[in-house]
Amino acid sequence: MKTYLSEIFSSVQGEGPYVGERHLFVRFCACHRKCVYCDTNTELTDYCIVEKQPGSGEFEQIKNAMSVTQVADVIKEIDAKTRNSRISITGGAPLMQSRFLLKLLPILKSEGLSIYLEAAGDLVKELKTIIEWIDIVAMDIKLESVTEEKATFPAHWQFLKLCRDYNVEVFTKLVVSANTDESELLSAAKGIKKAGGEDTLVIIQPMTKAEKTDAVPSVEQIFRWQDQVSSILPNVRVIPQTHKMLEML
Ligand code: SF4
Repeated sequence: MKTYLSEIFSSVQGEGPYVGERHLFVRFCACHRKCVYCDTNTELTDYCIVEKQPGSGEFEQIKNAMSVTQVADVIKEIDAKTRNSRISITGGAPLMQSRFLLKLLPILKSEGLSIYLEAAGDLVKELKTIIEWIDIVAMDIKLESVTEEKATFPAHWQFLKLCRDYNVEVFTKLVVSANTDESELLSAAKGIKKAGGEDTLVIIQPMTKAEKTDAVPSVEQIFRWQDQVSSILPNVRVIPQTHKMLEML
């Protein structure tokens, strides 16, 4: 079995409550969504680029598609040289490769590695097939007013409930822009509460300026939305994409 990866590198986790930890990022190609603020090349690439020395900017190229053994060996090699807290499975949409992950993750878990999955939070069946191998799920809740795509709330609530049913650590992330519809945001907060429980952590992530949009939210909007969401769920934090500030991978 083979898959397409775009990058493997060790860096600082720049988003969410684990911000600042060193993670080894394994970035899968392809995505089923088209968020207007997307900053990732989601095409299938001919090569996976691998930064063996963190921050060096020097990359080795490995021809795609890669086998499970190949990917596991590269991860083990880089992880042995760097001090990563977790393996961050990211994309694109890594859950589109759930059959590949079903082979890869048991190998990584047998090495004692902690698996952190970053996902759009809508591919429920795919998550179910691999959930036993996941330690932490960083789950996006996509807002139609921000992504400019059709909302997928029902899938999000099933996804969140699945994490809860399996007692997998999960936090939710709402990317907000200047175009955020407040009623949609509050409806998302209520859905999170119902599916995940009142103790579900919500990260409000102000959108970073991207190629197709510069609708960055104002400070006043961010405070107002944190107050509003906090009236429904008590644990709401505002965390921007910190790796962008440092121009890190
Ligand atoms: S889900 Fe993530 S990778 Fe896919 S289009 Fe949206 S931001 Fe980009």
